[in-house]
Amino acid sequence: MNSIKGQGGMDDLIVGAGFAGATCARRLADAGHRVLVIDKRPHVGGNAFDRRDEHGLLVHEYGPHIFHTNSEKVFAFLSRFTEWRAYEHRVVAAVEGQLLPIPINRTTINRLYGLDLDEAGVTEFLARARMPREPLRTSEDVVLNAVGPDLCDKFFRGYTRKQWGLELGELSAGVAARIPTRTNDDDRYFADRFQAMPAQGYTRMFERMLDHPNIELSLGCDFNAVRHSIVRRRTIYTGPIDEYFEHRLGKLPYRSLRFEHEHLKDTVQLQPVGTVNYPNDHAYTRITEFKHLTGETHAGTSIVREFPCAQGDPYYPIPAADNESLYKRYEALADAEPDTVFVGRLAQYRYYNMDQVVAAALALTD
Ligand SMILES: Cc1cc2nc3c(=O)[nH]c(=O)nc-3n(C[C@H](O)[C@H](O)[C@H](O)COP(=O)(O)OP(=O)(O)OC[C@H]3O[C@@H](n4cnc5c(N)ncnc54)[C@H](O)[C@@H]3O)c2cc1C
Repeated sequence: MNSIKGQGGMDDLIVGAGFAGATCARRLADAGHRVLVIDKRPHVGGNAFDRRDEHGLLVHEYGPHIFHTNSEKVFAFLSRFTEWRAYEHRVVAAVEGQLLPIPINRTTINRLYGLDLDEAGVTEFLARARMPREPLRTSEDVVLNAVGPDLCDKFFRGYTRKQWGLELGELSAGVAARIPTRTNDDDRYFADRFQAMPAQGYTRMFERMLDHPNIELSLGCDFNAVRHSIVRRRTIYTGPIDEYFEHRLGKLPYRSLRFEHEHLKDTVQLQPVGTVNYPNDHAYTRITEFKHLTGETHAGTSIVREFPCAQGDPYYPIPAADNESLYKRYEALADAEPDTVFVGRLAQYRYYNMDQVVAAALALTD
């Protein structure tokens, strides 16, 4: 662990140097607080951390992170610390020997079924294909209600099983509700107003955010080792909420991932878009090729494959009814915890995107 200089008395101890922790740290430091940020990892950025690989290409250590938001406030805040590179993410799914746009759009349906429908034709097609469900309780309800059983089986069932280790019917409605169905040819993965990547990468953006005379940073420092020894007025905790309470109500389930990074020496471009999903084949869910995201040029290309697994670092809170009720019991403990606030994906056990985490941290520090 790094030695901590400002131990004489901090205003705020912030646990975690990801989006939640770094946003809170900067806001509070700007307001004159003396802040200590600790992270058990040896780097800033949390899961958005990126680095140059041994071939000089910028890669995302913990899987592809694409920034998108409708919030002017979030975009303006982050723009203090980075320039941006315009980027609209596109994803195709490998289904029945073709690479087809996901979210499902007009092209997906025409190419999968060998049709030539216009927009009105696609609307009619989906009206015939869909299985109306009411209420929409699970992700299976959402998908069947939108596109019916055949598209559900080809694009969603296998992917969900791999990604979450759950059947579609066991997953909360909110997960599938994030993915729209389109009748036009829009093949962008996100439809948000602001879609861009930090021009010099996420890590550089975090370094700038945390570069402030009122912020002290200690990396490789686990909260569990220092929770009783650091003098502070308040704690902002962005790690897993159940771990904070030493799992006293039981473990909250998280989904983990194993990332397999690879550099392909003589391949200028491996795939036509940033990410290819494999809903039905292979143990991995998707391959991302970073050059699409970063715009970098190189004689080779760097990719990452994602293998979901039950054990390992907690990456995704698993959105299912039982887990949400266990989280609610932890939330009640958190509300009663003196001088401590919980914010972020793991601390609030929510399937938050980066911008939603920044928005939550901005609201908290307002
Ligand atoms: C594979 C993957 C892809 C994603 N893609 C996107 C995307 O494309 N777009 C998007 O908007 N979002 C994406 N996300 C979500 C995004 O990663 C999160 O919204 C965001 O990183 C959450 O920030 P956070 O600060 O809440 O948590 P984290 O980034 O997890 O940061 C929490 C930090 O707390 C530290 N910590 C935990 N416990 C302790 C402890 N005991 N002591 C000290 N430090 C501790 C951790 O080391 C970590 O650095 C993706 C997530 C994953 C896993």
